[in-house]
Amino acid sequence: MLRIASAGMPGDAVARIKTEATFESLKAVASVRPALAKEQGHRCAYCEQRIIVDEKVTTRIEHFHPQHGTDIKSHCSIQAGASALADAPIEWSNLLLCCDGKVVGDETCDVKKRNTDVCDGIRNPKTAPPDVDTLVEVEIDGRVSPRAPIDVTRAQDYLDNVLNLNHPTLVRNRLRLMNELRKQVGIKAPSPGAWSAQQKAKIATALRSSVGDREYGSVYLALARRYER
Ligand SMILES: [Zn+2]
Ligand SMILES: [Zn+2]
Repeated sequence: MLRIASAGMPGDAVARIKTEATFESLKAVASVRPALAKEQGHRCAYCEQRIIVDEKVTTRIEHFHPQHGTDIKSHCSIQAGASALADAPIEWSNLLLCCDGKVVGDETCDVKKRNTDVCDGIRNPKTAPPDVDTLVEVEIDGRVSPRAPIDVTRAQDYLDNVLNLNHPTLVRNRLRLMNELRKQVGIKAPSPGAWSAQQKAKIATALRSSVGDREYGSVYLALARRYER
């Protein structure tokens, strides 16, 4: 769950919802999915797997605050950028692009989340403070725990049970990448203890600058943080 620096709704989509302010009409604007994908580095907003916008339409437009059923409370309004439930379906900062949610024997991300309101636990990657680069900490075993949560207990529950981000497949993918990166930067021991401050800073900078559009960006950041301590 990397922080997303939003580029704003494309102009033709803005024009479209001026005439018809519904999610259905917004969704039909061809530029919407590519714009969301681009600002997210072509990664699922939740699990950070690569997502590709194509004619097969396997990506899903997710509402951080659900578009149906749940009242907008004050914390929702801050997180979703929508002041009323009627705005939630079309508010750009409430829209995230997600993967197809298919994972071995289970579901993840917005498919698993359905209409659960998570605003009281985790932060919306799109409205999180600029100094929070990711909303998850990738642990040494590949699992994720909350970073900068609204409420740490709820956040962990949402990561585990609502978004299913600790599904064994995702954990394994993160772990594999973490091990690969360790090899690449020449880290043999799991502990950064053996390195000089200068060497550690160099490794951390290299990791941070490698995130770009790569899958599982939070793995790079988690590893970088270990060398920044
Ligand atoms: Zn996903
Ligand atoms: Zn909410």
